[in-house]
Amino acid sequence: KNRVNILGTEFDNFTAKQFHQYLDDDLDLKANKFIVTPNPEIVLSARKDNNFSKIINNADYVIPDGIGIIKGAKSLGTPLHERITGFDTLQYLITAANRKQAKVFLLGAKPEVIQASADKIKKDYPQIDLVGYHDGYFKDESKIVEEIADKKPNIVLVALGSPKQELFINKYRDQADAIWVGVGGSFDVFSG
Ligand code: UDP
Repeated sequence: KNRVNILGTEFDNFTAKQFHQYLDDDLDLKANKFIVTPNPEIVLSARKDNNFSKIINNADYVIPDGIGIIKGAKSLGTPLHERITGFDTLQYLITAANRKQAKVFLLGAKPEVIQASADKIKKDYPQIDLVGYHDGYFKDESKIVEEIADKKPNIVLVALGSPKQELFINKYRDQADAIWVGVGGSFDVFSG
């Protein structure tokens, strides 16, 4: 794998176009994949937390979210093609899901934000099969996980902040053969 190490986090080095091609193939194959989109803050916290670092580096796709990562890679003499944000990735997956009539599950953010995100998907991406959504302030984690397993989504978008979302995906990704991605505060932007 063509990866670039920035202070211990190993980033994939491809263009957004290549990445999107991989995601299309993954969706067609119903592959189980985990995408992380580390920004400089996440790189620094992974440096201090070996378990978190391992989880990130074992993800299938490690995407440089932030111009600081691109600048750092360049100054280390191992440049990365381009910045690809978590929000870009959410946008691409939603567009691809609409094109492929895929099943999507949304998890995270405040109740009104996830409701507005679900409403936007139903209105603007009518071919998506939105199989479920839940805010990120739940008490019974196992109920949510059961629902995801039951609904068999092709894409699970998880917005619990870092490292919560990465720990959640790492623990439960075997429950559905989906593309799982931690999208941070993306629903707050998407819903607005
Ligand atoms: N969030 C959540 N549950 C939590 C903590 C955070 O659903 O227990 C959501 C929060 O509402 C926001 C998103 O996670 O939509 C990202 O939070 P934050 O901006 O703090 O994290 P970052 O994007 O900086 O990782």
